[in-house]
Amino acid sequence: MRKIDLNNFQVARSETARDINRSIVLNLIRGHQPISRADLARHSGLQRSTVSVIAEQLIEERWVTEGANGVTPRGRRPTFLHLNKGRIGIIGVNIRPALTTVALADLDANFLSQESLPTGPDPKKFIDGLVPRLRNLIKMHPEITCEGIGVSLPGRVDLASQRLVFAPNLGWPDFDLKAAIEKATGLPVELENAANSCALAEIWFGKQAVGVRNLVAVTVSEGIGVGLILNHQLLRGSNGMAGEFGHTTIVPDGLECRCGNRGCWELYASSSAAVRYYVQSSSPVRSGRKGVRQSETGPTFDDLLRLTEQGDPKAKEAIRLMADYLGKGIALLVTGLAPDLIVVVGEITRAWSRIGSVIEEAVKRHSFTPAATRVVPADRSSQPRLRGTIALVLQKHFGAPSVA
Ligand SMILES: [Zn+2]
Repeated sequence: MRKIDLNNFQVARSETARDINRSIVLNLIRGHQPISRADLARHSGLQRSTVSVIAEQLIEERWVTEGANGVTPRGRRPTFLHLNKGRIGIIGVNIRPALTTVALADLDANFLSQESLPTGPDPKKFIDGLVPRLRNLIKMHPEITCEGIGVSLPGRVDLASQRLVFAPNLGWPDFDLKAAIEKATGLPVELENAANSCALAEIWFGKQAVGVRNLVAVTVSEGIGVGLILNHQLLRGSNGMAGEFGHTTIVPDGLECRCGNRGCWELYASSSAAVRYYVQSSSPVRSGRKGVRQSETGPTFDDLLRLTEQGDPKAKEAIRLMADYLGKGIALLVTGLAPDLIVVVGEITRAWSRIGSVIEEAVKRHSFTPAATRVVPADRSSQPRLRGTIALVLQKHFGAPSVA
């Protein structure tokens, strides 16, 4: 039960019931396609005539299209409905500190084209490089109508101002990214934190999240991000800052972090941390006392994973240590939130056969609640971070209407 917010409520309009039914039918088509109008009526409990009116409207708006005729035992041949996948597209922009990926996807988050560009320290220059690529994606697929652009960022976005409010690993000055992209492309832009986007992607596209109400996405890369979906709703917190578990202290008086705090979880459980562990074990003299971000000079995390696969004992130990700290932080999430599912996203999932049990043991060691949380790796082949950007736009059209 939600209390009605008297500063921000929505009264029921005459179209409210229609809007809700339209959303339900659209989602039923998405979930059961190809589907006949009769089956839609059966699944929704709506009158057959109501379903027909909604279906016509969705066809007119090009969200839905009619396909092949089906065959029923009594010989009638209903026309099946399905999403108009080939005609509607969503553009995704996945910004990471070093590299940004842009892609055009259909409504099932299948990527039709994609390319990358360097991110760089100057957001204005970044926009200059990004915009021609976006225009090119649109030009390459004239048959597709783009519904919008989803942008995920390694930082937190304030929903009210749509500004980036906290992004220590990106290092950008304050910049209105949304307005700049909207102005250049004429398309609506949705900004979101990368971990939040990944959590939404699991809810909208993930096979592991079917029927899940409470889901946590933990993105592990240069830093650690956490996206929280509780009771089907993305948790934003004050100023959009919810989920910054990566910057909570896990080692008292530990290393100094870029955020200003000490001993942050991401300094011990991110891919940068594993690289640091490896560098320290290989050349203890160079390790330095601060020990933060040595990845620029040492091997990359990718190198480390390769060395691990080749059986290098120092690389294996570095990855094990990282996984142990990852488990320690995940135990905190399990104890504090008792989610149904925690999805780990990032290159580290390549080594899941090695680290899955390390994480599991660390969670057992540090969490004593009977929470039945499953901890699973995201499906790497689906490009979870990029897929998250597609979910940002999709949910605007397929999400539940908010009433009251
Ligand atoms: Zn920090």
